[in-house]
Amino acid sequence: MQITINKVVTIDYTLTDDEGDILDQSDDGQFAYLHGASNIIPGLEQALEGKASGDSLTVRVPPEMAYGVWDEELSQTVPANMFQTDEPIEPGMQFRAQSADGSTMVVTVTEVEGDKVTIDGNHPLAGQNLTFDVRVVAVRDASAEEMEHGHAH
Ligand code: ZN
Repeated sequence: MQITINKVVTIDYTLTDDEGDILDQSDDGQFAYLHGASNIIPGLEQALEGKASGDSLTVRVPPEMAYGVWDEELSQTVPANMFQTDEPIEPGMQFRAQSADGSTMVVTVTEVEGDKVTIDGNHPLAGQNLTFDVRVVAVRDASAEEMEHGHAH
């Protein structure tokens, strides 16, 4: 069966960055998504279109088709007393913050200098080329409920 819209697709994959470091991996046939429902990044979804179970492929996805380019405006320096925590603020810590349009975003602390903290609201994988080694494990028709929910069960 070929991968088209409204198929539930099970894949094994290994995700690496340009340095060859493994960022994410699923190799036990447990990762399934609903094709055509934007469950996965656009570059990977497009590459899987028309493939069938048993197919293997390597896809290199540029930032524009993955988690976006790195946006300088989403990085800013704020006073440390802005954070409502008793723990010392350290690079790598993540907080929920309100963005300008009122939605919630996750920001990551990238630098701490005295009482000045630099936070970055970009996705941690923004600006990165992502390479997926993918094997299509199974393809089946989605149920009416899965189509209604917009994800695989
Ligand atoms: Zn559901």
